[in-house]
Amino acid sequence: LKEIIIIGGGLSGLVSAILLKRAGYAVVLYEKKEYPFQRVCGEYISNEVKPFLEKNKLFPAVFNPSCISKFLLSSINGKCIELDLDYGAFGISRYNFDNFLYKIALEEGVEIFTKVQVECVDFKENYFEVNLASGEVNYASLVIGAYGKRSKLDKVLKRGFIQKRSPYLGVKYHIRTSFDKETVAIHNFKNGYCGLVKIEEDLYNLCYLSSAKNLANCKSIPSMEKEILMKNPFLKDIWESSEFVDEKPEVINEISFETKSPIENHILMAGDSAGMITPLCGNGMAMAIRSASLLSNSVIEHFQPNRFDLGRRKMLEQDYIGKWKNEFENRLRIGRSIQKLYGKSFSSDLLVSFSRLIPSLATFLVSKTHGKYFN
Ligand SMILES: Cc1cc2nc3c(=O)[nH]c(=O)nc-3n(C[C@H](O)[C@H](O)[C@H](O)COP(=O)(O)OP(=O)(O)OC[C@H]3O[C@@H](n4cnc5c(N)ncnc54)[C@H](O)[C@@H]3O)c2cc1C
Repeated sequence: LKEIIIIGGGLSGLVSAILLKRAGYAVVLYEKKEYPFQRVCGEYISNEVKPFLEKNKLFPAVFNPSCISKFLLSSINGKCIELDLDYGAFGISRYNFDNFLYKIALEEGVEIFTKVQVECVDFKENYFEVNLASGEVNYASLVIGAYGKRSKLDKVLKRGFIQKRSPYLGVKYHIRTSFDKETVAIHNFKNGYCGLVKIEEDLYNLCYLSSAKNLANCKSIPSMEKEILMKNPFLKDIWESSEFVDEKPEVINEISFETKSPIENHILMAGDSAGMITPLCGNGMAMAIRSASLLSNSVIEHFQPNRFDLGRRKMLEQDYIGKWKNEFENRLRIGRSIQKLYGKSFSSDLLVSFSRLIPSLATFLVSKTHGKYFN
């Protein structure tokens, strides 16, 4: 019987693995891909997690991440406003950041198996049976689900959100462009929005969330960009004046922002598996890191491998659910509400005009989607 199995090696899985290994547990992590690899992500990380990362020697300073302190928002018609960010952020590619954490986890003794997909998890009496795609079966006292926004496992677990089709797709490029190095921009377009932020070296991340309807109407990603995104003059300028580094973008679809439960069939969920915040908040990665920290604290408080009965398991689960809801429930709700204002001509114009009129209120709204510094 293994002590802890973690499914998924993104930020929430890797940070949980490192913290729990440091606390003395035997930790096994399964990741279906092989590091390093690209992900669809805006690569803007709120500074709320910087003190935590620095304190735990997990901040990727070696890559010289960008420092972001300003926010530019444009409406579909090209009206814009610039605001100062309260906390600010840093920009780094997931390619480098995840690989950096992966190497730390390996060095510190986490058993990591890449190119291994978990297919099914069953809770039996007081332990888990974990089935891998290869046919291998393993057993563990605790399982942490850190497998991201959507996985076959959600179907196996019959989670509510997976029954509904989601209308969003995400597209990411790395580009070279002349935009300000300290500003993150969000540009609206019909049924979507596109972020631009400096990351490491001379690269920028250009990442957008669009609707499946946009793609269906335009038939292909290049024509959707031309016919819909480039109606916003800022986006037209970016597409026409930048150097696109990769031949093709990274693309994902079926992105869902429906509510989820942080515990499912006794599996402790972290990061997007527990709940995904809308990308315009630029906060999913900070939440993934923070949920890994909360989860690890609950595990450390309640999990002693030789004395872990159902009563103690219940206490652990209640402790984690309480902490998770307290920290994230409101942020997720506010993120969903703000997203409704984006991607529409009238409301995105209104949002910009309103922010110009009362910048302090706009800054307040942004701060409500973020947490406070923690370490
Ligand atoms: C378009 C878009 C833009 C975004 N922009 C930002 C942004 O700028 N800033 C920000 O903070 N957040 C942003 N986010 C959100 C952010 O990317 C996520 O919140 C974050 O990656 C969550 O981390 P995670 O560890 O929970 O999941 P992930 O990083 O998705 O990691 C999950 C891992 O699990 C693995 N996996 C899945 N299923 C299995 C399985 N069955 N077996 C084994 N392994 C498995 C996957 O391969 C993956 O490596 C954005 C999201 C989208 C869609």
